[in-house]
Amino acid sequence: MKQVIIKDKVCIGCHLCEVYCLQKHAGTQDLVKAYKKESPRAIPRLRVDESGVVSLSVRCQHCVDAPCLRACLTGALSRDPVTSLIEVDEERCIGCGTCALACPLGVPRLDNVKKVMVKCDLCQDEEIPVCVANCPNEALVYADI
Ligand code: SF4
Ligand code: SF4
Repeated sequence: MKQVIIKDKVCIGCHLCEVYCLQKHAGTQDLVKAYKKESPRAIPRLRVDESGVVSLSVRCQHCVDAPCLRACLTGALSRDPVTSLIEVDEERCIGCGTCALACPLGVPRLDNVKKVMVKCDLCQDEEIPVCVANCPNEALVYADI
């Protein structure tokens, strides 16, 4: 499957991947409105971790042996047989956060309005994920793993 490969050595910690991810999941594609007018503000499906001069754009890796999948209490997480992505069924998710605790990267986040967990879906309706398309330093690459 295709995955976002992270090149930590060239990430400059600009957070643009996070910005474009938030915009992608907002109700508007206007960046200013997405940040300043929408309430609640959309949730980015990734985060940028920083330690000193090192930064890293972190999101779901759609693990082969996914701990979140095994930990989910309600069967809300499943692997799509076609895309191999780990997906959240909003009808079944109760927002308990067990998947986030089980995930080594802690990437699933709670949508406080819908009370369901959200995470990276690799922008399935785009040719390449928006984080990759907008990284100014080519720190993110969308490629087969
Ligand atoms: S957009 Fe690229 S350079 Fe900027 S924080 Fe994200 S991964 Fe790093
Ligand atoms: S949520 Fe975490 S454990 Fe589950 S597939 Fe993604 S990276 Fe792996």
